Amino acid sequence: MRYEGKIFRPGPTEYNSYLLQVTFGCSHNKCTFCNFYKDQQFRVRPYKEVEEDIMMARSYYKNVPSVFLCDGNVTCLSMDRLKPILTKIKEVFPESAHTNMFGSFRDIYRKTVDELKEMKALGVEQIVAGLESGSDIVLSEIQKGFTADEAIIAGKKMIEAGIEVGVGVILGLGGAKHSEDHVKGTIRVLNEINSPAIGVTVLNPQTDSPLYGDIQAGTFELPTYRQIFWEETELLKGLQVKGPSIFRSGFFLPNDEVIMGNLPDEKERLIKLSESRMNRYPQWLDKKVRMNGHL
Ligand code: SF4
Repeated sequence: MRYEGKIFRPGPTEYNSYLLQVTFGCSHNKCTFCNFYKDQQFRVRPYKEVEEDIMMARSYYKNVPSVFLCDGNVTCLSMDRLKPILTKIKEVFPESAHTNMFGSFRDIYRKTVDELKEMKALGVEQIVAGLESGSDIVLSEIQKGFTADEAIIAGKKMIEAGIEVGVGVILGLGGAKHSEDHVKGTIRVLNEINSPAIGVTVLNPQTDSPLYGDIQAGTFELPTYRQIFWEETELLKGLQVKGPSIFRSGFFLPNDEVIMGNLPDEKERLIKLSESRMNRYPQWLDKKVRMNGHL
């Protein structure tokens, strides 16, 4: 199996999956907070190479429990490109439980429900998509490439097609200025699309990301951990997902505790855990979130 550039996969759900690169880099590559593929020119991997890698993996691995397609937005591929890949995977790895991938709400919004149903029939159980925020102000400022309403439409199409959407949210992404709008909008989108998996992280700007320039220029004020804790608690209070939905949130502070539980059943427990962060980390409350890694 041959890989090019940096490889990312969602954890822990895909820890055991065979990672197959079908694109290189990210087709969007504009999000201001992201430095994943900034040094990489996006291109689609030729089918012949993908097929060769699949056959290589078959010769190495007796058992492939599942497959995950990389890189950035695999859903940017047309069905003409996706279908042969998914079909080949099904044929070569009959034991594989699913073929999941990273996707963008922008690309999913452009697909039809029938196309998504076809993907489901070919083994796609879940698409992991970064919502990051449900606030149109924040989505526009970070150049995410879709609006909150488009994310909702995309999410509903996936529900209709029977594909799960694993949603990523970034606390603090609205900076100090748009914190309330960030939380309010994100609650609205998450409640509408009823995601079975909500992964919450904290803004962690890297010095080689465009957002760093905004911080340096003073146009983006980093949030404090007090704001981050508040956003997490308010988000949990506002979530009315029908479930079942796994909520997972961690802040990467020293000795930090990852909050994890099922919604809606464990909502009150999760809120209490979130609220207790204010008491457990008093020394962090007025500090700005860290750059280049939280530890
Ligand atoms: S956050 Fe995702 S969509 Fe945005 S540039 Fe990074 S990889 Fe691409």
